[in-house]
Amino acid sequence: MTIKFKNLETFSKGKTGSTYNLELPTPTSSSGKSEMICKNVACKPQHFMMGPRSVNIILELDKKTFKFEPGAVGVNCPYCGEGNYEQNLISDRDKKAAVKMVTEAVYADTANSFSDMLKKAFGNNRSITVKTSPRAYPKYVRPYREDLLRNTECLDCGRCYGVYALAFFCPDCGSSNFMQHFNHESVLIDKQLALSVDVKESGDSELAYRLVGNALEDSLTVFETFLKRGFLLLEKEYNKNLIEQSKDSQNIKSPSLKNTEEKDLKSRFQNLYNAHLKYLDIGIDIKLNVSETELQIISSITQKRHVIGHNLSLMDSNMVEKLDVDGEGKTVPIAAKEVQDFLTSCVCVLKNVDNGIKGIKLERVLT
Ligand SMILES: [Zn+2]
Ligand SMILES: [Zn+2]
Repeated sequence: MTIKFKNLETFSKGKTGSTYNLELPTPTSSSGKSEMICKNVACKPQHFMMGPRSVNIILELDKKTFKFEPGAVGVNCPYCGEGNYEQNLISDRDKKAAVKMVTEAVYADTANSFSDMLKKAFGNNRSITVKTSPRAYPKYVRPYREDLLRNTECLDCGRCYGVYALAFFCPDCGSSNFMQHFNHESVLIDKQLALSVDVKESGDSELAYRLVGNALEDSLTVFETFLKRGFLLLEKEYNKNLIEQSKDSQNIKSPSLKNTEEKDLKSRFQNLYNAHLKYLDIGIDIKLNVSETELQIISSITQKRHVIGHNLSLMDSNMVEKLDVDGEGKTVPIAAKEVQDFLTSCVCVLKNVDNGIKGIKLERVLT
């Protein structure tokens, strides 16, 4: 019996001898992104989504320095930067879905061919009645994947991708997207502030005040998280460079590497003074090109967050003295403009972190 693989052939990309070369599309989300899982087991959270390139971005290759030419073979994980072939990052559930699609196609093709064979062999035989089922079709339903909350596109190369709130690299061109993600957070906080204006105009000043306070707390959390995540990434790079240097200098003494565990950082980055010292340990000055005014804004907002978070926004004598305002026992004054100025000042600090990330040499070792 010859089996005609009509359904299976819809996935065919040609044959090598008697072997079919199949290509199946991975399941996609509503925005057209496919699921990717980074192979680096130390990478957290490993899971990201890759989509098509946005048509809104016009590449100016001669004016930009990409780590990798956009669209080149391979992908770099947006979290840890590890490179690999795109097909090696397909998730297990997508692989299972592909196997199911092939199995269903083969099952339908085999059933149809067997039915055809019976009809051909006995169809003209009056003593034998051949009854066959209707033609079989593959029964799979193409799976659907959920988009992640953060959907973005690299402003350098236009590649659309999805991550969990913060990532460092564009998975396509390898550019640092660190500041892009911070700007994304700033836009969300701006929307919270705009909401507080609407609420105030509707007459609920207390809720409006609470919303600005929440936006202030959120902006501090974003700043701390970016400082912390940036530090953990750059510390790894610092160690890598130390190892390289010790190899180059034929130094038999092993370099003293720094291995900060995330859990050991605790609230280390809640305070810019401590964060600055920690970054100096790995050779990065996060106060470089940050003005005294900007540092003062960051310090003031940090103090206010403490009052909002721990004392229902009520100032004690200590806080009155630190903020140099009058009003012990009263609520701490906060304005939307202060939060916006704080975010602008954070940009000046984080640019120093971004410069470190831009200096990371990504590799795309394809195996
Ligand atoms: Zn990774
Ligand atoms: Zn890019």
